[in-house]
Amino acid sequence: MSRSDTTLPSPHKIVVANWKMHGNLARNHTLVDGYLQGLKSLSQADVVICVPYPYLAQIQSLLSETHVAWGAQNLAKYEEGAYTGEVSAGMLCDFGAQYVIIGHSERSTAYCESDENIAEKFMMAKRHGLTPILCVGETLLEREAGVMERVVGKQLETIIRLFGGEAFANSIVSYEPIWAIGTGLAASAEQAVAMHQFIRDTVSAADKSAADTLKILYGGSVNPQNAVQLLNQQEIDGALVGRCSLNAEQFIKICQAVPENSVV
Ligand code: PEP
Repeated sequence: MSRSDTTLPSPHKIVVANWKMHGNLARNHTLVDGYLQGLKSLSQADVVICVPYPYLAQIQSLLSETHVAWGAQNLAKYEEGAYTGEVSAGMLCDFGAQYVIIGHSERSTAYCESDENIAEKFMMAKRHGLTPILCVGETLLEREAGVMERVVGKQLETIIRLFGGEAFANSIVSYEPIWAIGTGLAASAEQAVAMHQFIRDTVSAADKSAADTLKILYGGSVNPQNAVQLLNQQEIDGALVGRCSLNAEQFIKICQAVPENSVV
């Protein structure tokens, strides 16, 4: 069975904006207006905006009558309780979030998040019907040492060991080489495709039908120029975009790089 024969929530490639810790009420409004203007004539890609927690209510009111979805950049691994400063999956759902980024390297390195912690967050998102966008990727040293597949494999295997391969059904993995994030140095299409194949094979070995419904994105210095080649690869189901998502014109150009009639 080919991947396009399976029942996916959406057959489109997906472009996710990660605003990181940027924005304010006025700037967000202008940026979203710019997105919506440019996206009017775009039907070949699904678009998601992941915003800082305080702006979930604002993004809900700006996007609820549109075809653009929204999400958060992290969530707590607990349902609720005495966890000062944490935000639960249920709270994200209260604001209409459908997606949540999990295990972004800017969090896992700064806050020492273990693969086990990330796996628990992944499952918490799933239990609440949120689509997790799991970030995986290697450092430059690891790539130079040729151990990038071992590193990414371990990140995936932790979820498989704790929750089984079926956890990946209808989920998203974003391959984000740490050396490419925010550096202006994106992975080549060949490097990205090789890792995407490895990710799908790893999940498929644990659960073939889950792997068929998994979307695998590329993230790391995606811009309007390199997006054309990256998003034309059959193995690349979309992009996670940081810096260029803060500029509506550039973000729209990245979305437009998704080929017409492409299906994942
Ligand atoms: C990211 O934050 O996930 C990211 C890919 O950032 P940038 O596009 O700025 O490299």
